[in-house]
Amino acid sequence: MSDIRTILLVMAMHDEAKSIIESLGLKLQKKHNSKLPTETFSGKYNDKQIWLQLNGKCPRFGVDNIGTDASVLNVYTGIENHNPDLILNAGTAGGFARANAKVGDIYLSYPYVYHHDRRINIPGFTEYGIGKYTCYPCLDIAKKLGVKAGVVSTGNSLDHTPLDLEIIEQYNGEVKEMEAAAIAWVANIFGIPFLAIKAITDIVDGSETTEDEFLKNLNYASKILGEKTIELIEVL
Ligand code: SAH
Repeated sequence: MSDIRTILLVMAMHDEAKSIIESLGLKLQKKHNSKLPTETFSGKYNDKQIWLQLNGKCPRFGVDNIGTDASVLNVYTGIENHNPDLILNAGTAGGFARANAKVGDIYLSYPYVYHHDRRINIPGFTEYGIGKYTCYPCLDIAKKLGVKAGVVSTGNSLDHTPLDLEIIEQYNGEVKEMEAAAIAWVANIFGIPFLAIKAITDIVDGSETTEDEFLKNLNYASKILGEKTIELIEVL
């Protein structure tokens, strides 16, 4: 039997998580702290305890909290309350035509996740900014599930500057999103293995604008994300 008995599944948007919550029959839990936006769902799947935590809604702007700040709150409270053996970050992301990505492709993070928008040109801080967190060894799993594996790069913008793209390319980034490296930072502090699974909603170096392509493909990609995340949990 696997050592991974308790999984903390950290997710940003409700639309991304809907199909997983339904398929696994996860139940919404009472909040530990009524002020925190984080929403917790839980249930058992096979021999594993699953805690799925959403960033929840921003009380000021009424949208799902996305990006690094809310994800850090989310994963920290999840670790404190549920003591997971593995932290899994599931979500959507941009892929790259230069790496042959297509909308609906699934990637596991490997071997690292990075930040591409923390440029701090001071000795020591350069590496700190970039992060470079090691991910759970998943190449065999990726093969088994028929999904891709690649470097995931995190920044707090949906769009990108030419410099973002240059940095992502420098680290062989194949997946661009807004949460993974921040969650990996917390996982690293606590010594808990980290893995991200990302479904491609848009092609960063393609011809469509990211926001239009993202919104068009969000439901389609989230459905595939749900199916593959469940398959992943089955083999962990
Ligand atoms: N405007 C959207 C907001 C979602 S932002 C809406 O109203 O629904 C994008 C979310 O999807 C983030 O959580 C991020 O991790 C992921 N994402 C998908 N494609 C991305 C890309 N090309 N760049 C950065 N993040 C992306």
